Order: sequence, then structure tokens, then C-alpha cells
Amino acid sequence: MDAEAGRKPLVIAIDGPAAAGKGTIAARLAEHFGLPHLDTGLLYRAIGRIMADRGFDVDNEEIAAAIAENLDPDDLRDPRLRGHEAGELASRVAVHRNVRAALVRFQREFAGRPPGAVLDGRDIGTVICPDATVKIFVTASAEERARRRTDELRAKGRDIDYSRILAEIRSRDERDSSRATAPLKAAEDAATLDTSELDREAAFAEAVAIVLRVAGQAAQTAAVRRA
Ligand code: C5P
Repeated sequence: MDAEAGRKPLVIAIDGPAAAGKGTIAARLAEHFGLPHLDTGLLYRAIGRIMADRGFDVDNEEIAAAIAENLDPDDLRDPRLRGHEAGELASRVAVHRNVRAALVRFQREFAGRPPGAVLDGRDIGTVICPDATVKIFVTASAEERARRRTDELRAKGRDIDYSRILAEIRSRDERDSSRATAPLKAAEDAATLDTSELDREAAFAEAVAIVLRVAGQAAQTAAVRRA
């Protein structure tokens, strides 16, 4: 890799469906390579949450877009955003073209600052950062993702039915994959990482191997700088 390429920000784009493990993998890659991490789902979750709190209909594109334009980074700190309900609200506001357009600049600026960044979401490798250094599409079967989500919620003491979670995951996949603007899909040049049969450590190890294979020298340097 030449010196010019070595100075380009190292951008790692992680996309995939809900509960495939992409958030954990993205956070750990960011730590490993010493890069900031943006969980872009939080942007959509925050908009959905703010609308529900203020009594607005999340299907109202005009209001959702106005909230997106004025989103404050502090809005992303609400602990309720991690919850299941916020995820459902997010996937409804995320279908609005003007909401997505309002969030593009924020995400691109985050990715473009040296030394680079890890972003995870649904359209990072396809729309937000089509020139990302590394693109990974993290996926797992719907049954396995539902099992993980059910275990996670039960561990928090929630009385949850597996078949209900599976149905919700399937309908969220359907909504995210079939929307007209920036649907969930793997970029043509993304490496696919199927975590159905992998535990967390094995999935992370595989993700590191993909980054090193694709980004080579730039990633090695970032990891060494970090150590
Ligand atoms: O990843 P997370 O579960 O937090 O995302 C919640 C929802 O936000 C997704 O189901 C999807 O509809 C939307 N989203 C999106 N584009 C992104 C990130 C999230 O459409 N880059």
C-alpha cells in the first residue's frame, strides 16, 4: 500500500440484520484498532423515541425529518434507546427518505475524520460509506437471532415468548429489506460473516481476520499504534 493510501482514514463498515451480533463486533473492532465507533441505529432509535415521547405519529415523515435535522448528540444517551421497543420505533422512522437524507452528513463526517472509524447499521457499506476500506455484512439465521434476543431479555427478568420475538425479527427484516430507500442488503464488495454457528469470540476473531486481510497494512498500523 502506498503512502497516500496509508493516510486515508481506515473506515470499517458493518451492516446486517437485527441481533446478528454486529453491534458487539463493531464495538470490539473499534477498541482493537483504536478507532471511534458509531452505532447508527441509535440515530433512528432516538428519533423514534423522541416522537413517541412527544405523542407524534412515527409514520409522519415531515415531523420525523424535522427531528432528524435537529438531532443533538446528547439525544443518543437515553438508556431507553437500547430497548426492544425503541428498535421497533426506529425501523418505522427509518423508512422515511427525508429522515435518512438528514442523517447522511452526520454519519459521513464521523467516518471521514482521521484516523477513521467503525460504523454499524444497515446501509453503511451501500449508501453512507460506499468507499469504506473494509465492509462486513454480519448475519445469522432468524431462528438463531430470535434465540439470542430471547435469552438476553429473559436474563433481564422479562417473561418473553420465543415465537413472538421470532415473528418480530422476521417482520423487522422484511420492513428493513423491502423499503424503497437504502434497504438492508450486503454491498457487492462486502465480506459476509455468518455468526449462526459462532460464539462471540470466534465471531470477533473472524471479523479481525477479515479486516487484516482486506485493509492489510493500514489496519496493522492502527492496531500497533493502539497497543
Ligand atoms: O441496529 P438497530 O437495531 O439499533 O437499528 C434499529 C432500526 O433502525 C433498524 O431495524 C433499521 O430499521 C434502522 N436502521 C437503519 N439504518 C441504519 C441503522 C438502523 O435503517 N444505518
